[in-house]
Amino acid sequence: MRVYEKVRDGIWNYNGLFELVDAWVEKNGIRMVFKFKLTMTSEDRVKASPNTFKEHNRLIPSWVKQAVWKRDKGQCVQCGSMDHLHYDHDLPFCEGGTSLLPENIRLLCARHNLQKSGRIE
Ligand SMILES: [Zn+2]
Repeated sequence: MRVYEKVRDGIWNYNGLFELVDAWVEKNGIRMVFKFKLTMTSEDRVKASPNTFKEHNRLIPSWVKQAVWKRDKGQCVQCGSMDHLHYDHDLPFCEGGTSLLPENIRLLCARHNLQKSGRIE
């Protein structure tokens, strides 16, 4: 199911895909209120449309990005630059490196990312 948040009249903000894990009815005075328990589906599943399927294992989950950003203090691990940072796979994805472990992801500035891989991601 899809969850929308009403921002104001006529404008709905798409909040991503949720899974309905539980639903029940509570009596609230004279009204019956439907309650739903929702969990956010994983980012991977949201992005796993046929077009992105090939790439989707390459995507770095946001929790990994947050962990890496915190660990590397928002700086290039080589020069400390805080500009034009990229998330870099220490062991390249094509060589079996994973996007799912913060240990294999680091922050590099554009210059060092370019030096390392020879291309801009
Ligand atoms: Zn750098």
